[in-house]
Amino acid sequence: MAPDRLQKPLAPPGAAGAEPYLPFARPSLDEDTIAAVADVLRSGWITTGPLTRQFEAALSDYFGGRTAMTFTSATAALEAALLVAGVGPGDEVITPAMSFAATANVILRVGAKPVFVDVELASRNIDLDRVEAAITSRTRAILPVHFAGRAVDMDRLYEIAGRRGLRVIEDAAQAMGTTWRGRRIGACGDLVVFSFHPNKNMTTIEGGALVLDSPAEAKLAELHRFHGIQRTASGDIDVELAGGKSNLTDVAAAVGLGQLRRLEAFNARRRDLAALYFARLGADAALALPDRNDAGHNWHMFNPLLPLDRMTIDRNEFIRRMHERGIGVGIHYPALHQLALYRRLGHAQHSHPDAERIGRETVTLPLFAGMADSDVERVCSAVRDVLCGAMSGGAG
Ligand SMILES: *Cc1c(COP(=O)(O)O)cnc(C)c1O
Repeated sequence: MAPDRLQKPLAPPGAAGAEPYLPFARPSLDEDTIAAVADVLRSGWITTGPLTRQFEAALSDYFGGRTAMTFTSATAALEAALLVAGVGPGDEVITPAMSFAATANVILRVGAKPVFVDVELASRNIDLDRVEAAITSRTRAILPVHFAGRAVDMDRLYEIAGRRGLRVIEDAAQAMGTTWRGRRIGACGDLVVFSFHPNKNMTTIEGGALVLDSPAEAKLAELHRFHGIQRTASGDIDVELAGGKSNLTDVAAAVGLGQLRRLEAFNARRRDLAALYFARLGADAALALPDRNDAGHNWHMFNPLLPLDRMTIDRNEFIRRMHERGIGVGIHYPALHQLALYRRLGHAQHSHPDAERIGRETVTLPLFAGMADSDVERVCSAVRDVLCGAMSGGAG
């Protein structure tokens, strides 16, 4: 494939060359949404306004009537959630060693200390068997992640948190539409945060939401979201605390409203595509496929593990060879405690073997609602082709 192909991974479909480049994630935006955005732009009111309120009301409905507050990102919403829960300097927050950096970074940003717990190899979620051993007198909260859109065992999680008197801040960034035993993630629980980044199952371009119950905590979250500004009883404006600035725009809300209407259809399509991956790759014992398990999975990502110890090439070379075949492959994620920041903070380096193994071996294959069945076929034959030429002692 021509080298310029490598430098332009987002070449539009139909560009010169054989098959269009297939990224590992791509949002599906329809013409109605594009028209709705144009209407906002023409309306004269483009920042937080009526559409943001409408989007928040639609989210609240989606989450069974709980309060839903939008933010400019899940990262901002997670930070607000920690502040609302009163987490600060001197506190510890228990979180999985396998997630996106934001999950742990927000804990540091409010002055607290992340305490990493290993994940389960199968579910990639925090190993609840190991959580209690990590609780100390300083622990204030547990911050679990519904990894790749697979729900954490909510019954066990909340049983532990309840018994030990801990707040729960769920990083549900990847879990829009995920259910646990038939209940939507976000429709129950403590403080729950979603992301609407373009790679997620629905998008507002950038954006996120915090779902919660307590009106007092919603009011506090609002202060953190918008400069700490409050209106006094007499109608004056006053500032209560040094809040941030992370309110969603009506342009973003217009995108979100269009996406939320299609979320269930998006997720149904993702489940079908994941099933096709299992059907096509299941027979190939070389790859360790993600755990298929439960029906509530929203298949935000499909991330098998590479059999690196039996391969003659490393993961970067695998990704390069897939790229050569016009297919985008991601890495989600390196283990958190092995990132430079957490190394520097003194986190033990060989302490969470399953997170470390996932961090070394994981690859994210393309999976998004706009994919055709033939795209999955194409990915699977490219994977087989690349692996076939790269297995030690294999047929290469
Ligand atoms: C995407 C993501 C975030 C951050 O979301 P933003 O909206 O980009 O801030 C946090 N945690 C996890 C697990 C994510 O996947």
